[in-house]
Amino acid sequence: MSALILIVEDEPDLSSTLEFNLEKEGFKTRVAATGEEAIRLAAEPPAPDLILLDLMLPDISGTEVCRRLRQDPATRPIPVMMLTARSEEIDRIVGFELGADDYVTKPYSVRELLLRIRAVLRRSATSPSEAAPESAEIQFGCLRIDLEAHRVWVEDEEIPLTALEFKLLHTLMSRQGRVQTRKQLLQDVWAIHADVNTRTVDTHVKRLRQKILAAGDYIETLRGVGYRFRTAPPDEARV
Ligand code: CA
Repeated sequence: MSALILIVEDEPDLSSTLEFNLEKEGFKTRVAATGEEAIRLAAEPPAPDLILLDLMLPDISGTEVCRRLRQDPATRPIPVMMLTARSEEIDRIVGFELGADDYVTKPYSVRELLLRIRAVLRRSATSPSEAAPESAEIQFGCLRIDLEAHRVWVEDEEIPLTALEFKLLHTLMSRQGRVQTRKQLLQDVWAIHADVNTRTVDTHVKRLRQKILAAGDYIETLRGVGYRFRTAPPDEARV
């Protein structure tokens, strides 16, 4: 089944080039030229599998569109890839605040963009440990995750995570007590080798820790090496 991509781009030349190239590669497309239209089309069934979102739009900014997509439970799980000409915004874009799954800086090559799109689709479609049979819910200390619904709770409070953050958390959790190097996480979580550096891993782990509050302590930092999920919650001894 071919994935449906929502293209949000106000420049007609760029959006028709994207539309043409994506359809040539077998994707289905939907096009929005404004932020408001993007929000409306994102919520329309069938849900898009990925949203390509331009940062500079005529009505509301791409960052605001992203924020609103993340607020709505119906559009929250859809991966968002930002298209931006401004590299200094990147930390905010992929960050805690907005939760885009990836970004591509303009001008981009269509080939690179397609690689990135496939990587994002791959990681939103696959679970990190497909071989192991898993129950739908995992409980660990104050943290509970539903693998099927992609939902996470900390002390019964639901934590909205992006598709990427969920995969990062699940990957770390499914390898409890084992050191995960940044390189390994890049390969397994981001599913891509080029153009993403190990600093990206640090930024995302930091943000994930902030989001999951008390459960953030379950992810240990091994300086200069990587990360490790605890084998037991540190607070269990006190109970
Ligand atoms: Ca634009």
